[in-house]
Amino acid sequence: MKVLVVGSGGREHALAWKLLQSPNIDRVFCIPGNGGTATMSNCQNVSLSIDDFEGILRFAQVQGVGFTIVGPELPLALGIVDYFQAAEALIFGPTQEGAKIESSKSWAKTLMQEANIPTAASATFQSLDAAQAYVQQQGTPIVIKADGLASGKGVTVAMTIEEATEALDRIFAGQFGSAGETVVIEEFMTGQEVSVLAVTDGKTIRPLSPAQDHKRLGDGDTGPNTGGMGAYAPAPIATPELMAKVQTQVLELAIAALNARGIDYRGCLYAGLMITPEGEPKVVEFNCRLGDPETQAVLPLLDTNLDDLLMACVEGNLANFPPIRWKKQSSVCVVMAAGGYPDKVETGQFITGIGKAEDLGAFVFQSGTKLKNNAIVTNGGRVLGVTALGDDIRNAITNVYSAIEFVAYDGMYYRKDIASKAID
Ligand code: AMP
Repeated sequence: MKVLVVGSGGREHALAWKLLQSPNIDRVFCIPGNGGTATMSNCQNVSLSIDDFEGILRFAQVQGVGFTIVGPELPLALGIVDYFQAAEALIFGPTQEGAKIESSKSWAKTLMQEANIPTAASATFQSLDAAQAYVQQQGTPIVIKADGLASGKGVTVAMTIEEATEALDRIFAGQFGSAGETVVIEEFMTGQEVSVLAVTDGKTIRPLSPAQDHKRLGDGDTGPNTGGMGAYAPAPIATPELMAKVQTQVLELAIAALNARGIDYRGCLYAGLMITPEGEPKVVEFNCRLGDPETQAVLPLLDTNLDDLLMACVEGNLANFPPIRWKKQSSVCVVMAAGGYPDKVETGQFITGIGKAEDLGAFVFQSGTKLKNNAIVTNGGRVLGVTALGDDIRNAITNVYSAIEFVAYDGMYYRKDIASKAID
């Protein structure tokens, strides 16, 4: 079977890599892909835009693609799944209505409140004055969120009234365009965060190995928020007891609430959770797709055929699918960024040492790279993710940082403390 992966990040490189391990798959196309997917055997990049649904569907039909998997949220929020379904083409991901769970934070909050899913108390505003008055009345710390998609930059955790006021001013002045016409203001939650990526066929929902992301740029969780600087799995904080609560108090309630709205949600439902000091899971956000970099850490642990699992979701057959099999190891992914990230970055720097890192047993999933004159050069903020497995987290940390030592490019930056929380 030929498979199509939509997207260009490390998540999509990891998906293509994992799919190609399946005996069912002989070729993967990536739209538009990156330097990593361009140079992987049996994988080919296709230069189409991720919102060109007509072009993507035509390509899939002409090439005889059996199955399409969507990585990023944007095409899901724009309705790529509805478009494919109308043509009876198999695709993994929720419909546009289902993707609202990520594309509108206020919609997601209403769903959570109605379904009694534990989450931070919140209020929704469409006017600056009312939002400012609410902040004054609530005090700080408080969390300000643009309602729509903002590439992970729409959230401000405000420690002072000034910060909150400034965030509201920026959002209502149009910093995120129409994504900021509505604002959600949330109670500040404390605790450790865990990402539970779950796959569902709209009825049954099964979690993947729980992961922990590192959103801040600097060591010790300092500096600005980013798309994610590293991840590890399984996260020890997600004990079997906690995962049982996540299953019944979060995932199953969310699927039931989506069903009650007439939404047949098939795809990945990603629950970003805060584990309170009392050990209770509370939802920070839902995403309608696999997380990045979490996927880069989780997929190397997976022993089940990924295409069989995802196809069971699309075909509505997850209840009969055998238990998902995992390697009894730990995985750590360290994201390597370009100098200046998350602000303006320089691109076009030659990258060396990827092969040597892979010789050590690491997986190097590329994101902001491209192939130029037969060499891999930087082409974005998050350049690549290096993932290594180990018998335990400590071992995986040692392995990943040993592999990273071989990789080099001008301006290279990465965190030195990924997964150290798991040891603390
Ligand atoms: P989100 O895009 O909603 O996941 O928010 C990005 C990050 O902001 C989260 O990963 C948390 O670290 C932080 N955050 C969001 N909402 C809250 C909250 N209510 N309390 C504390 N931190 C939050």
